[in-house]
Amino acid sequence: MPASAAFPPASPVITAPHGDTVSWWDGVPWFDLAPWPDVTPWEPPAPRAMPAPGSPATLAISRYLPATTMLWRGRTVAALFLQGCPWTCGYCLDPSMRRDEGIGRWTWADVVADVTGVHRDIDGIVFTGGEPTRQAALLPAMAFMREAGLGIALHTGGAYPARLERALPLVDFVSLDIKGQPSRYGAVTGSLVAGDAAWRSLDILQASSTAFEVTITVDPTLHTRAEILDLADTLRARGVHRIALQEVIAGIANPRYADRLGGRGIRDVLTLTDLSKFTVR
Ligand code: SF4
Repeated sequence: MPASAAFPPASPVITAPHGDTVSWWDGVPWFDLAPWPDVTPWEPPAPRAMPAPGSPATLAISRYLPATTMLWRGRTVAALFLQGCPWTCGYCLDPSMRRDEGIGRWTWADVVADVTGVHRDIDGIVFTGGEPTRQAALLPAMAFMREAGLGIALHTGGAYPARLERALPLVDFVSLDIKGQPSRYGAVTGSLVAGDAAWRSLDILQASSTAFEVTITVDPTLHTRAEILDLADTLRARGVHRIALQEVIAGIANPRYADRLGGRGIRDVLTLTDLSKFTVR
């Protein structure tokens, strides 16, 4: 610095934050730091206890019905609708359930609190979906409910035969949705491997001692009368005698499918005489 130069220099003017004062030392601004405002120091949130992988607490639950008589004949049961399905049936009532992540307001802890509540009077619990066998936590959840003294039913399309087989020792009753002959699954579900999986699941059920029924969802946009009757004959020839037909309920979720359906129902596919030979839902 030249001897004539002023010290500290008049400029540049330095505005220090938070009320700090600025002095100069050897041409360099020197901040005398003011105390910081009295703020609560930030602390990281306490780590949350994460459920162990595969534990029931990880179940993605879409909906929970505390009591129904519609999903397991002769019983009053709770019903747990689980997220996730690998298929894309046009008539799917709730396509949001095909996603793997949960969208519902029920957690596993809520469900446990409800079914084990002191005033609860239910005979069992139905695991349905979506495709309930998609979630690995299904089996421990079933084991828990069984331990709690509840009967266990499973509604499945048979997309995961290996998991179905592992679940059977925990299950009292299975309702298996068969959507057609294996070659028709591509058209119904959008998956070319779905037919093999579903019919493999039927093989597993028939080889087991678990009570089961087969439901056939009759889709008037795809199925003909001959096809449904042939399917029922195939099932009976295999020894399946508990067969129920299901109507599709269109118009809620998929307007394009509802357009194709054009208001048709099971009576547009089968005659009254045909229907008299089945349970119809
Ligand atoms: S199998 Fe069931 S949940 Fe999956 S897409 Fe078909 S109707 Fe929907």
